[in-house]
Amino acid sequence: MRAAIEKRYFSHWFHLNILFLGLLMACHPDPDDFGETEILPWYDGKKLAISITYDDGTVNQFQKALPIMNELGMPGTFYINTGEIPGSQYQAKFIGRELKEIVEESASVATDRENLFERASAIRMIDMSGAVEMHNQAGALFEQGKEEEAIAVVEKALVQARGLNQVRERAPRVLEGPRTDWDAIREFASQGHEFGVHTISHPRLAVMDEDNLLYELLNCREDILNQLGPEHTFSAECPFGTEDERVMEYALAHFEGLRNIMPMDSLHEVNRWGHYDPDYELTPYVQWQRGPLGDTTLLQKKAWVDRALDAKHHPWLVLVYHGIDGIGWEPQSSDSVRAYFEYIHGKGDQIWVGTFKEVTQYLKQRMAASVDIQPEKDQITIYLTHNLGERFDHPMTLRTQVPGNWDEFRVLQGGKEISYNMAESGATGQWVHYNVLPNSEEIVLEQVR
Ligand SMILES: [Zn+2]
Repeated sequence: MRAAIEKRYFSHWFHLNILFLGLLMACHPDPDDFGETEILPWYDGKKLAISITYDDGTVNQFQKALPIMNELGMPGTFYINTGEIPGSQYQAKFIGRELKEIVEESASVATDRENLFERASAIRMIDMSGAVEMHNQAGALFEQGKEEEAIAVVEKALVQARGLNQVRERAPRVLEGPRTDWDAIREFASQGHEFGVHTISHPRLAVMDEDNLLYELLNCREDILNQLGPEHTFSAECPFGTEDERVMEYALAHFEGLRNIMPMDSLHEVNRWGHYDPDYELTPYVQWQRGPLGDTTLLQKKAWVDRALDAKHHPWLVLVYHGIDGIGWEPQSSDSVRAYFEYIHGKGDQIWVGTFKEVTQYLKQRMAASVDIQPEKDQITIYLTHNLGERFDHPMTLRTQVPGNWDEFRVLQGGKEISYNMAESGATGQWVHYNVLPNSEEIVLEQVR
């Protein structure tokens, strides 16, 4: 009780002093007090970041939703399954022993924890009815911690396989609707959209053995790299929104951004299934994932944006789309897509719509960057650096206090003039914000005489 009173007293005293100090500073701005620089939470000084993401690469995402995004100048992120794209080098296949050998062995060796992953990978590739469904079911059960039930499903599939005249391999067909080819995808990429890994053929990675899991993840990445270049191998989404620990370990080792999870001290994540608000005060950033499902109303979707704009910290709203206009899982109508995107666009002065990669870059860069400031009378020199490597090259937004007596000034990076915005101007001097590249040439703010 005593401690609580003291704490309250201290806090009261502390606030009074801060208030007094603030008043003092407001009345008498120190003319020598300038150069202070901070990296703004989101690019261009926006209050909220939104990433619009699509899974599976079904045709209407490109034919219906993408043109709306182009019209409004919003880039999207498309997590694609590459196996069925015409021209891909890698198709779904089983990596390991002969399927026939695995099936025959199952007659005398029961499925257990040791052989579950090999067998769950194998059953999916056997040419028989229900193969993919049984694999998916085993994966879902395993991820719910129901290992015995998962084993029973695999056993059932193997009994069925032992009854076949011949055990043949067949790549599952998972993509709904007409195919979109690489030429078209390259064109979309050139318009500013991001493409990312969603595996070759959409398996349940949590029940796959290492060889098959890595084949699905890394050979999808390889086709994207060869077709679109290294800028599109930054982020990934492992199918079915898995958060399986073993799968995440592999994926996090190969991708800088992962929509499934992104463990960072500075980021609190709320997944698509989480019933939580974007308000969370223990981390600087909150990633709030919301998946518009078939029955999500426009009103609900608009409320996500409003709620995120109201959040105290720095929310990142990540929207997860699947089907559009009848093709793909839980489809949304393109009319509702348009109405929603126009709503977001209408709040463009407060919202930064960036690809999943761009927002990941900005967030990680801001947490890692250091700002070295050298203020002089007529010139402020700033060095902005981080140690994340050259794949983190997103421009960052700085806010700098310039002396109140600078009537005219300019901002340069590497000697080239760049534009700036007056953030505010008043008793505490004038503040500007501007976009610059990290790990690049020196930044100079100088008075123009
Ligand atoms: Zn998917």
